[in-house]
Amino acid sequence: MKRIAIIGSTGSIGVNALDVVRQMPGEFEVVALAAHSNVELLARQARTFKPKAVSLFEPSAAARLKESLNGFCTHETPGTEGLVGIASRPDVDLILMSLVGGVGFTPLLAALRSGKTVALANKEPMVMAGAQLMAEAKRCGASIVPVDSEPSAIFQCLQGGSDSTAALSGGLSRQIRKVFLTASGGAFYKHKGSLAKVTVAQALKHPTWKMGQKITIDCATLMNKGFEAIEIMNLFGLTRDQVEIVIHPQSIVHSAVEFTDGTVLAQMSLPDMRLPIQYAMTYPRRARSVVEPLDLVKLGELTFKKPDFRRFPCLALAREAAKSPAMSAVLNAADEIAVTAFVEGRIPFTSIAKVIEKTMALYRPAERLPDFDEVVEIDRWARTKAREFCGR
Ligand code: MG
Repeated sequence: MKRIAIIGSTGSIGVNALDVVRQMPGEFEVVALAAHSNVELLARQARTFKPKAVSLFEPSAAARLKESLNGFCTHETPGTEGLVGIASRPDVDLILMSLVGGVGFTPLLAALRSGKTVALANKEPMVMAGAQLMAEAKRCGASIVPVDSEPSAIFQCLQGGSDSTAALSGGLSRQIRKVFLTASGGAFYKHKGSLAKVTVAQALKHPTWKMGQKITIDCATLMNKGFEAIEIMNLFGLTRDQVEIVIHPQSIVHSAVEFTDGTVLAQMSLPDMRLPIQYAMTYPRRARSVVEPLDLVKLGELTFKKPDFRRFPCLALAREAAKSPAMSAVLNAADEIAVTAFVEGRIPFTSIAKVIEKTMALYRPAERLPDFDEVVEIDRWARTKAREFCGR
């Protein structure tokens, strides 16, 4: 049995991952569960999967969970400390990290330093410090298997390269000419007219995927795709020019890799996160899944278009930030603050990009790669600046 810990178990990825565990009896032992603040759901998950330890990030929620579970299992300290405790447990083989935002950075670093295999859904740390995290993983004998559908698609396509073991270490990059990173287009791909007055409810209506709030807003601005471009550059050792973003509204081709001989391998399936989650959990093996098979004839056609960088300036900002690892950290922090401000009704949709742009304009990145302490410092600085821009 693979011993697994899920950090972010009450979010959409975590719930789907536990669904995969349930569908594959005898395959996984759930050793630990951690989440932000959802007491009821985490308590229910703990009663069903009987982990040895649980952790809630938010202190008052953690206290209520302890009461509710009444001595049932070990309770980690709330906050980052508890997440780090779970991420570095010696009795865990696989850590599924599906937190939202920069909060996942320190626990991910702890998991890598403990030499774990990490099934990674939390893309923000890979935007903040992806190159440094990959180097640390290598140094500590840890590995990252992507969970998100597009990086997973690329990872799966790379298994068709001549040396599939190199896919984990970025060693295949010399055989890759480029990558087609597909995007659904988000909530406003077909929206006519100005985006200045669109509501939070409109932005949260994703055409093909059911996901959490932060990522769905990032999809509507296309920032999610900008993040993924930076993430896959770091995961697979690609340059900025090797990543081509294409709008593919059907969300069937989850991304594709063009090799040096001109062959293009694509990974296709219906848009159902249980598939890439399961693959990351069972890798390098494939197993049966509950996901509906793909009916190509029923689909009829698949379409691909260039994205509109002017209408979706976040994509242009991410492309600019991709030039510098430090600027990518600024991009990530400013986006998190701006998206929160939009969801709370403090700024309009179009100001998300403006807040990020102003924050980036203030930052002068150093030439060299920042170390982990400097990344945390850059992150804090950018959040403070972005908050000021949201307040005006
Ligand atoms: Mg994705």
